[in-house]
Amino acid sequence: MNYKRRSEAVREALESLRLDALITSNLANIRYLSGFTGSSALLIVSGRENVFFSDGRYTEQARLEVEGARVRIVKGKSALATASAWLSHERKFRRIGLEAAQLTVADRDAFATAVPRSTRMVSTLSIVERLRMRKDSEEVGRIRNACHLGAELFQGLVKTIRPGRSESEVAGELELAARQRGAEQMSFPTIIAAGKRSALPHGRASNEPIPSRGFVVCDFGVILASYCSDMTRTVHVGRPQAEARAVYEAVWEAQQAAIEAVKPGVSVGEVDQAARKLLQKRNLSKYFTHSTGHGLGLEVHEAPRVAAGQAEILRPDMVITIEPGVYESGKGGVRIEDTVVVTDSGCEILTPSPKEMIVV
Ligand code: ZN
Ligand code: ZN
Repeated sequence: MNYKRRSEAVREALESLRLDALITSNLANIRYLSGFTGSSALLIVSGRENVFFSDGRYTEQARLEVEGARVRIVKGKSALATASAWLSHERKFRRIGLEAAQLTVADRDAFATAVPRSTRMVSTLSIVERLRMRKDSEEVGRIRNACHLGAELFQGLVKTIRPGRSESEVAGELELAARQRGAEQMSFPTIIAAGKRSALPHGRASNEPIPSRGFVVCDFGVILASYCSDMTRTVHVGRPQAEARAVYEAVWEAQQAAIEAVKPGVSVGEVDQAARKLLQKRNLSKYFTHSTGHGLGLEVHEAPRVAAGQAEILRPDMVITIEPGVYESGKGGVRIEDTVVVTDSGCEILTPSPKEMIVV
């Protein structure tokens, strides 16, 4: 991974904001800029250098993983204490940015107390997150691999869906298979939502049995080589009635319309609108209760949000999901989700599973 180029991009952003340094506390940002995969760290990016802080548990791991940064770990001290002490000697920083979305008020107070009087602490939003939106080829390759593993796992998952089995059993088998094939972990708690529970957009797998007829929403992802996958397919248990088929077709068409809208220069709001418009025609848009998608990479939900009214413009190498759904309370729901990468002229689907309705 090209940590040097990424840090240079942060430095350029800092310059334009007239900041002398940025304290990054979001672990995904720290991973993006240094390669560190542990759970406790701070990274200070300044005009001159990157300095990485952690605690004694991570001495060895930091030595193995951290690239392009000086590592400072003091025995018996937290990353925050070590970073504060380091900053207290830095008289050249007049304005230091803090990641406002992650840092706690207590953390901010600790830094403010430590820095010299002449230093101002400035809240910043999404400096690194914005850079992370556009993936380099190595990142796209890793996301593609994770998505392909997801598609392989789905083939096995379909065979485990049977009336009477619990959603949790099905999810558990999927997760075991994911681990066996090299996944570090799932990218979020697996959603297996059957029958009436399929109307819950975030119906985590429960102990409820799969009924003998109805939809089963399967939404899951793996983390492979630090990068996430995310896909949803909805299968039907028992013979679907005409109404169920119609809803499924409508969601599929809406998803296709949104995928066709994805290209450089188009806003994410317009992509959302493309899916919604299709469902409006079928009188189903009132059942589409969430946004159309989200960025994906080191984290399963990252910038941009593909939602109504969002103005972010798509550019090549952004990776987003497209996942419209229809949820009718007391009846059931359907969602179809792919992960796509924006190309020069449109997008490429990274999740290769077929979308024809599967009946089990
Ligand atoms: Zn998903
Ligand atoms: Zn998603």
